[in-house]
Amino acid sequence: MTKAEVALLLAAASGRDQRTIGDADVLAWHEDIGDLPYDLARAALGRHYRESTDRIMPAHVRRLIRTIREERRGRELPSEPRALPGRFEDDVTRDLRVKEGVALCRSVLSVVMERLEANRRLPSGELDADGWCGRCNRDTRLAADEDDRNTRCLNCHPERAA
Ligand SMILES: [Zn+2]
Repeated sequence: MTKAEVALLLAAASGRDQRTIGDADVLAWHEDIGDLPYDLARAALGRHYRESTDRIMPAHVRRLIRTIREERRGRELPSEPRALPGRFEDDVTRDLRVKEGVALCRSVLSVVMERLEANRRLPSGELDADGWCGRCNRDTRLAADEDDRNTRCLNCHPERAA
């Protein structure tokens, strides 16, 4: 973590133990725990003050981070059904995945809907002067169905099913 993050961490500690913080504190703590990630240090700090009334020291942070990492490793033993977090676990990518899923459904559905729309029978009278519906291939009067096969246009093929 950076010195600025060390200062933030110490400010969070000060919120618990009313310590005063100066540049010397930031430098010293940065020497002792600057190699550790800030988010883990914050987690360690919170855990320390939930479990202890001792004024936190760098050694506490290092030890608790080791514990947190061991716990996470234990939890992350690969097991297929647990590959995705459950409904009530923290899952920062869930919203993203949902959004992607919705977008994918929408793009797939829109193709299907367009085809269904193209094949939908129009009320008679919507054909142009040549008897063309405007939705199929003008020369062949064929239109793609749901399975992407060309079928006689339901609207204007001369031999369309009645
Ligand atoms: Zn047609």
